[in-house]
Amino acid sequence: MTDPDAEYRPLTPARGDVPADRSCLRCAATFWSEGFGERICKRCKGQASWKSALPPAAGGGRRSSR
Ligand SMILES: [Zn+2]
Repeated sequence: MTDPDAEYRPLTPARGDVPADRSCLRCAATFWSEGFGERICKRCKGQASWKSALPPAAGGGRRSSR
């Protein structure tokens, strides 16, 4: 008897898009990440500073015209 479920044996997921413990990119603290896209711990996310980490609208199409 061949077991059809044998082919669907859960291998180690090649993708990182699985819930797992990850290190926060900001504070390097280990936290539970719901997915690969979640790399910032909730504590850091709670801080407004990480959102404003981007430069404030630098060069919004404004260039020095000659
Ligand atoms: Zn953090």
